[in-house]
Amino acid sequence: MSTSAHPSTQQIRSDFLEFFREKQHTIVPSAPLVPANDPTLLFTNSGMVQFKNVFLGSEKPGYVRAADVQRCLRAGGKHNDLDQVGYTARHHTFFEMLGNWSFGDYFKVEAIEWAWELLTGVWKLDPQRLLVTVYHTDDEAHAIWKDRIGVPEDRIVRIGDNKGAPFASDNFWQMADTGPCGPSTEIFYDHGPDIPGGPPGSPDEDGDRFIEIWNLVFMQFDRQPDGTLLPLPAPCVDTGMGLERVAAILQGKHGNYEIDLFQFLIAEAARLTGTSDLSNKSLRVIADHIRACAFLIIDGVLPSNEGRGYVLRRIIRRALRHGWMLGQKQPFFHHMTGSLVQAMGEAYPELAGKQDFIERALRAEEERFAETLDAGMRMFDEVAARSRGAIAGEEAFRLYDTYGFPVDLTADIARERGLDVDMAGFEAAMEAQREAARAAGKFGGGISLPAELAAQLPATRFLGYTGLAADGLQVLA
Ligand code: ATP
Ligand code: MG
Ligand code: MG
Ligand code: MG
Repeated sequence: MSTSAHPSTQQIRSDFLEFFREKQHTIVPSAPLVPANDPTLLFTNSGMVQFKNVFLGSEKPGYVRAADVQRCLRAGGKHNDLDQVGYTARHHTFFEMLGNWSFGDYFKVEAIEWAWELLTGVWKLDPQRLLVTVYHTDDEAHAIWKDRIGVPEDRIVRIGDNKGAPFASDNFWQMADTGPCGPSTEIFYDHGPDIPGGPPGSPDEDGDRFIEIWNLVFMQFDRQPDGTLLPLPAPCVDTGMGLERVAAILQGKHGNYEIDLFQFLIAEAARLTGTSDLSNKSLRVIADHIRACAFLIIDGVLPSNEGRGYVLRRIIRRALRHGWMLGQKQPFFHHMTGSLVQAMGEAYPELAGKQDFIERALRAEEERFAETLDAGMRMFDEVAARSRGAIAGEEAFRLYDTYGFPVDLTADIARERGLDVDMAGFEAAMEAQREAARAAGKFGGGISLPAELAAQLPATRFLGYTGLAADGLQVLA
């Protein structure tokens, strides 16, 4: 267990696992970012993903308590925090989730008591700074916090159903419209009145003052097709705590980007882009994105124009645009890999083994985008200068089609200039092009590729890929 005042991120990982190992949990490895048996899910976005079939009862793992450090990605699909990166202190695309589980074994009392013991007993967080939420009808959890733990009632917030507001807290969890579900309780840390933001449940809860650190879900119901909730025969616990958020607190910092691991990556991004101001937001984005990109690549994703590969391409291109803004017009992003291996290779040995592969995949994408980034930015500037309020859909489409700017990249740049993008107009332009392609096909004109792709077809066949293909991964144009 850690004794120093400022434990490293690596120390926190092992503190967590050690704590739950002592409580008879089986330590399991992180699953890959690409879910093994769930084609409906783009990426592993929480610790429970690899246990889905255990909760549904179709898989019996041979243990009833588990704990792990799960790599997660929230950059596409239902959970997408890509647009928060660089804007909040607490969101990443890629992050690590510390989790402990009970599969029909312990329930609310132990889950809450152990969370509190780890935070305040082992890690010595000041209880006065902790605040908890419970689902509004969950009197059982409320009573545990109040009577067993001794949290004052004014720091236990009852939260109702999320009515769809983008940031409203939501303390009821369900896997799908039917099946296992239940209330949750969440633990927040108050970073102090100097930081804007209100407590959970308040109108300004999206600020960075009260930061959610741990979510404990109590799966106790089986929702029927008619909506009724039947009790599950063996209730389960599913918890998730953001490693970077808890590291920030334990290292006496406010934001995730100030922790040891990120400061190391940010320093490298600064060196590679020749940036002296370490607080520059673009450095944070680059540091965030190298983690997402490298782990996607080791988990079998390569840049492409659809599905998971397109999410990767979008993240890489966003990182490159930030490097470009810092004045770095040469390929630099792949050079971040070495530092990432240094920072995270101990926790993820598979990273080091694939360093060369990651670098080559990133470099190929950097070289491809370098051909159009500069001209695309010039076009963006012209368009932005004559836009009022929003970039027209057709212009966003031209940036996409001719310069390889994914529309979310255009929206990201536009946002920095106080502009929106007409997304409906973009979709319409995209659809018109698909129609034209279909019509051309019907009349024997063949398939027409987006201009960006067509222009680069020869490049996608170059020898740089033979090495990649030799690794057994699909190479996509
Ligand atoms: P928030 O409300 O802050 O967006 P969340 O409620 O979406 O977080 P959960 O789905 O409850 O998060 O995930 C469990 C834990 O994982 C959170 O309590 C938080 O510590 C961490 N976490 C969630 N999203 C992120 C992210 N994008 N980056 C870093 N940590 C995260
Ligand atoms: Mg969230
Ligand atoms: Mg939340
Ligand atoms: Mg939550």
